[in-house]
Amino acid sequence: MTQLEQLFGAKNLKELMSHLTSEDVCRSYMEQMRWGGKPVCPHCGAGNPYKLKNGKTYRCKSKTCQNDFTVTVGTVFENSKVPLSVWIAASFLLSAHKKGISSLQLSRDLGITQKTAWFVLHRLRLAMGEPDPEPLQNIVEVDETYVGGKYSNMHSKKRKEQIAKGDNKVPVMGLLERDGKARLTVIGKESFKDVVRQNVNKGAILITDSHLSYQGLDQEYKAHESVNHSQGEYKRDMFYTNSVEGFFSLFKRTIFGTYHQISPKHLHRYCAESSYRFNSRQIMDKERFNNLLANPTGRLKYKDLIQKK
Ligand SMILES: [Zn+2]
Repeated sequence: MTQLEQLFGAKNLKELMSHLTSEDVCRSYMEQMRWGGKPVCPHCGAGNPYKLKNGKTYRCKSKTCQNDFTVTVGTVFENSKVPLSVWIAASFLLSAHKKGISSLQLSRDLGITQKTAWFVLHRLRLAMGEPDPEPLQNIVEVDETYVGGKYSNMHSKKRKEQIAKGDNKVPVMGLLERDGKARLTVIGKESFKDVVRQNVNKGAILITDSHLSYQGLDQEYKAHESVNHSQGEYKRDMFYTNSVEGFFSLFKRTIFGTYHQISPKHLHRYCAESSYRFNSRQIMDKERFNNLLANPTGRLKYKDLIQKK
């Protein structure tokens, strides 16, 4: 077996790390994961680039492009001083841990500073997000939760007042296509209805709680049913929101169990992480990790992360 084949066969972190013996091996591994042996120019999309003598840089053959690139260009690993072996190990740990991993824990596990660990984790969360999410369809369960406190069933006007007061509690909407994908979205200034419109196909049947903010959606969607939890109603035939509530409980265990306090500024990335893990819950850890390395697109600079709004 070649070293790359051994890497692909690794079942756990220990095995994986034992084969990642140099940065060159890590790079070949990432190239294989991203391009499957056929490098593609990230600047223009052309194939068949030249490999330069340094063994890691490619030059695009397209006459109008001719740009140089390495495997990390256009990915969350770009322009980073963090060794590729750390990126790979961190990707493995973040995808494998069911409730995520804190920057403190990752710094201890990999022998890096907590600052580096924090940055690495945020970049990986960015890669976990869906770049172009498709509208959910069929039967879609919708529910909302508040990170940082209990606001359930609060009237939207009162909620807005609380938010205007600078309260840190942030509403998050969970949307789940039954037997399909789930998604978490941080609700900013837009209304609950707008968030539903942005995420759900008009041909869908919506099931929400009886929050007043969802009223009127039956005019726009195939159907809209609400479940009245305050009156003890939890399940009526196919009209229930138990699946999205299960999704929320995993999200909350991650937030409260592992990450504790989360700044509202970064919350959307934790939402992406929880959604990614939930949507890939039926595949093996190794496969989830492979998917992350195969699609590591996006950019996030440290200075953007720490920038105050
Ligand atoms: Zn090119």
